[in-house]
Amino acid sequence: MLFDTHVHLNDSQYAEDLEVVIQNAKEAGVSNMVVVGFDRPTITKAMELVETYEFLYASVGWHPVDAIDMTEQDLAWIEQLAKHPKVVALGEMGLDYHWDKSPKYIQKDVFRKQIRLAKKVKLPIIIHNREATQDIVDILKEEDAKEVGGIMHCFSGSTEVAKECIDMNFFISLGGPVTFKNAKKPKEVASEIPLSHLLIETDCPYLAPHPYRGKRNEPAYVKLVAEQIAMIKGIPLEEVAKITNRNAKRLFGIDC
Ligand SMILES: [Zn+2]
Repeated sequence: MLFDTHVHLNDSQYAEDLEVVIQNAKEAGVSNMVVVGFDRPTITKAMELVETYEFLYASVGWHPVDAIDMTEQDLAWIEQLAKHPKVVALGEMGLDYHWDKSPKYIQKDVFRKQIRLAKKVKLPIIIHNREATQDIVDILKEEDAKEVGGIMHCFSGSTEVAKECIDMNFFISLGGPVTFKNAKKPKEVASEIPLSHLLIETDCPYLAPHPYRGKRNEPAYVKLVAEQIAMIKGIPLEEVAKITNRNAKRLFGIDC
């Protein structure tokens, strides 16, 4: 059974056919998914979904691109939601230097506040990193994020950085890009990093794996990510499924 650790089924792109998308996931062998909310509307929708479907869990946090919009009330709301039994992580949070809507100093401040909150409520964190690796690693160290650990979501960095994150109690999560022909680094990470530190995800509706690249992604395609890792490592798909599933359940505190 496959555990998709990062989905946005709360995205409006699924408004018309969510039931079909969930059915496709079940048929592909996806047993559980974490719906990630990162602002007011997507957090609200994620909470609705986990109340409706028993196999869905939620992660709630504030996206770095929109850091400038986060208020103290939002942070208090996230703290309140963290008590919900189906909220298994905080995030996605982190730094995104690709877009300049939120200045870096605000992104860093909002990131630090969320790490401190995660330590307070004792939940792991899901990290979004775009063009900000060094600052992320520095902040995780300074804030002692090791205490809660978490996930480097859709990891695209080098094996060296992956190892540094693993030392800080983080899992490396691979998504659709590992299936892209020219994705050298994710393939190297899939080869070098032991399964015991890997997770799989789709980040749907974004980043659809080959051969769906550019189309709307969905959780069923997490199987293609798992198959690619199995091929790179030269092991059966079942083993990738079993170990990454176990890793996810242990991290999120879900009973097996
Ligand atoms: Zn995401």
